[in-house]
Amino acid sequence: MTYFRSNVDEMASYVPGEQPKRGTQIIKLNSNENPYPPSPAALAVLRNIDGEWLRRYPEPYGEEFRQATSKVLGVPSDWIIVGNGSDELLNLVIRACAEPGRKVVYPMPTYVLYRTLSQMQAAEIVEIPYKEDYSLPLEKLIAANGAVTFIASPNSPSGHVVAMNDLQNLANRLSGVLVIDEAYVDFAEENALNLVKEHANVFVIRTLSKGYSLAGLRLGFGVANPKLLDGLFKVKDSYNIDAIACAVGAATITDQAYKNACVAKIKASRTQLAKDLQKLGFRIWSSQTNFLLAQPPQDNAEYLYQKLKQRRILVRYFKQPGLDNKLRITVGTNEQNHALVEAMIELLGTGKQ
Ligand SMILES: *Cc1c(COP(=O)(O)O)cnc(C)c1O
Repeated sequence: MTYFRSNVDEMASYVPGEQPKRGTQIIKLNSNENPYPPSPAALAVLRNIDGEWLRRYPEPYGEEFRQATSKVLGVPSDWIIVGNGSDELLNLVIRACAEPGRKVVYPMPTYVLYRTLSQMQAAEIVEIPYKEDYSLPLEKLIAANGAVTFIASPNSPSGHVVAMNDLQNLANRLSGVLVIDEAYVDFAEENALNLVKEHANVFVIRTLSKGYSLAGLRLGFGVANPKLLDGLFKVKDSYNIDAIACAVGAATITDQAYKNACVAKIKASRTQLAKDLQKLGFRIWSSQTNFLLAQPPQDNAEYLYQKLKQRRILVRYFKQPGLDNKLRITVGTNEQNHALVEAMIELLGTGKQ
């Protein structure tokens, strides 16, 4: 006997990367957080939050953040929806569009939460493997014709950007919603924002968790034709954006210069870390994100993950086909990356299964 719907009973919980207690001395390269602090302008706003803002309910659409984002992106503010992290926006699309008998489609491997959210809704899930070189299985995705199709671009954990041509083709040929999850767009050389203008079924989702160093604040946003946003607004919580997140987020996204400087540092560190790991014999996939997918030379990814953890360095290991011989390593500061490489040198020297 159980209290739950059968799909809830049967589904596995989403397993996030380990989040050690605050203050723990650890090099944390497992959740793709930004190693640099949030914008000083944003922290100044945070210090000046008025108790009166907290006494009252917040503005229901995160209007101050919406306006700030509208200016930065050059997109009208009524084309923007704000979420409690971009995870909430993924959830809203699923809640509004998916149910038993309706398909949710995505290429694999990708962000594991797409599966979890679809299972909650008891939607029919269609997972289509990426080709060996991480090119998109375009025709199969189109043939599956989901009520919702998720494409993370840049993708996690592969780090690649999906070809703009393929995204355009999907937008043209799918009758359902095409979600383009751009969580890592700040580290990429291109983006798909323009597609929303011509395609009423395209929903581009971004976050302040990665490029803007605000994973703890929980703030994300999506851009789409207002007709698509209408349905999402119906299923969101009335006050999904708290007053603090809204004000801090607005100051953060306005401070593009600070974000660009952090991103430039991370990209330079990414190049260096890739070189250092390649020298040790790792296979490294080209990345347009703040992490690297790395395949160790001795086929001992799980061993390395465990041993690094003992040395207080956390990286991500996915025990699933196609990934269980690889590690996903967040690009940290040069100092953190150096510590990782030094640890790898020692472990590879003694590395047995
Ligand atoms: C980190 C991440 C998210 C979630 O970001 P939040 O805004 O922190 O919820 C969404 N999609 C992908 C692919 C991610 O890697």
